[in-house]
Parts: sequence; structure tokens; C-alpha cells
Amino acid sequence: MAELIDLRSDTVTKPTAEMRKAMAAAEVGDDVYGEDPTIQKLERIAAEKIGKEAALFVPSGTMGNQVAAMTHLQRGEEVVLEAESHIFYYEVGGLALLSGAQARTITGRKGFMEPERIAAAIRPDDLHFPRTGLLCLENTHNRAGGAVLTAEQTGLMAQVAHERGIPVHLDGARVFNAAIALGTDVRELTAPVDSVMFCLSKGLAAPVGSLLAGKQEFIDKARKVRKLLGGGLRQAGILAAAGIIALEQMVDRLAEDHAHARLLAAELANIPGLTIDPDAYPTNILICSVAKLGISAQRFSALLAQHGVLANPISATELRFVTHTDVTKNQIITAINIINQIVKAINQF
Ligand SMILES: *Cc1c(COP(=O)(O)O)cnc(C)c1O
Repeated sequence: MAELIDLRSDTVTKPTAEMRKAMAAAEVGDDVYGEDPTIQKLERIAAEKIGKEAALFVPSGTMGNQVAAMTHLQRGEEVVLEAESHIFYYEVGGLALLSGAQARTITGRKGFMEPERIAAAIRPDDLHFPRTGLLCLENTHNRAGGAVLTAEQTGLMAQVAHERGIPVHLDGARVFNAAIALGTDVRELTAPVDSVMFCLSKGLAAPVGSLLAGKQEFIDKARKVRKLLGGGLRQAGILAAAGIIALEQMVDRLAEDHAHARLLAAELANIPGLTIDPDAYPTNILICSVAKLGISAQRFSALLAQHGVLANPISATELRFVTHTDVTKNQIITAINIINQIVKAINQF
């Protein structure tokens, strides 16, 4: 079979040749002792780029979000977050299990929760009620198709929480995609929040790692929580070396992934039987419905895989396509042709 065109996720990206070289040459020490110079350099660069006082390297985005929640929250508190958000949907019930917190979900529109609805979800002082301890936002919003929150939207949501003394955490796994799509400095998107997590291991192509950033005092506390979860790593500079390249060389090129996604969306929209709004996806994630083909997303995904195109079903009728640095424009065009042929074959029955 021809080479696979892997559009399941941007997590499948492999480290670049330059990353592998930097990893091999990285200066390292024991990071639990605070002695790894390459980790320290990455954390400094990350804090500066994301616009916060300090940053902490964590092995995964999930750990970054959960460390943030555990650092912000007291047991028995409530967290307000979007109903399709990663923290609620995909983090194995971590809020309940690790923070002892209860989730209060709000259905948003493209990741944006109406400020009035956030205000209504925040608990007043009452003997019966849990205390609201945290508001979580997500930018870009994964299940909403890589939807982007502007700095203004972020500010409006954060303000509602801050006015009531509640901290705000941003799940910014792909916040650099948001900044590139908006043409703004990422710091404008993170300025309204108290803490932010972003991933090096998605579109930025590092093999491992995410960062949690915030005020120095918050990061000092978070470091202890990371240790508790087993996230205190030793010669982690090997990983940080790739992360530095991710931050310094791989951010601007995300624009290419977005262009590929736009091309793919426009072409999928022309295929009878597929349903996709070609203008609805500003970053590198597309959601396409196969409902009109009368076939399940699972089955369609299996057919694609037989022809070398990988895409994940995300509901009974929808598939998700994610563009990234390891998929070229030619491969996108090949994928479009393959999808076209498969749909034609289905439509003939
Ligand atoms: C991928 C992702 C995460 C978690 O990152 P992992 O490194 O896979 O644990 C968190 N939030 C969002 C929005 C993501 O897309």
C-alpha cells in the first residue's frame, strides 16, 4: 500500500531532524534537584513567549491541566467549564478523581460561553452550595473543530470569574494555532487568564511535553503537585531541547497547516454526500459529517484507512481531520482524491 496520510491528530507529528540532533547534544542535570539547564532554558523561553512570570515543564497536556486544577482548587469545589471541553470530556474524570472537584458544564458556541451563563453558573454564598473554585476555557477548542477564542472573548469570560474572586485556567493545548489564525501575539490571548497550559507535542512536533504557566507563586505550588503525580523528571533536558526548537522554529509554520485545512474543507464541501461548512474551520481541525451517505463515521473511517487515509470518528456521524507538519499539500490533494472515489463508490449503491 502507498504511504499513509495520517490526519487523525497533530499528536502524530514526529520530531524534526534538528530536534533529534539537539536532543542528543542537550546539556542535562537532575531536574528534580533543579539542576537541568536545558529544562530551565525552556521554562524561561516558554514563560516569556506565553506572557507569564514562570512556566513548568510537564510530560503531557493532561497532566498540565490536572496539575493546574489541583493547584487552584480545594476539595469539594465546583469547576465551571464548557460541556465539550477536553478537561471535561477527555481527561478520565481527573477533576473528580484528583482534585475532588465537581464539574458544572455550560454548552458554548465554538468554545465561547456566554458571560451571563457563566455568571449564572457561579454559586452564590449559601450553606447548601459548593464553592465555585475555577473557570476553565479552551483555545483552540478541540471538539468545536479547532475554534478560536479572540482576546476580547477570553477577556469577557475571565472578567465574570475575576469579579467574583475566581481564578481562570486556559487549556491552550493549541493556543499558538489560535494566535496564528488571529494574527495576534499569543500573549494577548493569555493575558486575561491566571494559568495556561500549552502543548509542545502537537502541531509544534516535539516528541513529548507541555508547559503550565502562570505567576511564580502558582508555579512553585504546581511544581509540588507535579511531583505528587509522578511528573518530576530527571535528565529531562533531553526532552526540553526538542521543546525549545518547537517554540522557536515551529510556531510560524502552523499557518501552513491552516492553509491545508482550508483547502481540504473547501474540497470536501464539493463532494456530494459529505457535509462540511468550508468557512467554519480557522485552524488545523475539521469536522465533516457523513450522515447523508447513510453510513456510520466508524465505517467511513475504516474505508478511508483501507485506502491509506487515517481520520478519527468523533461521533456516530462525524469524522475529524487534523492537518499538521508531517502532511504535505500533495498528500492533502491525494487524500481528497481518495475520499472522492470512496464517496462515489458508496453513492453508487
Ligand atoms: C491534546 C489536548 C490536551 C491534552 O494533551 P495530552 O498531551 O494529549 O495529554 C488537552 N487539551 C486539549 C484541548 C487537547 O487537544
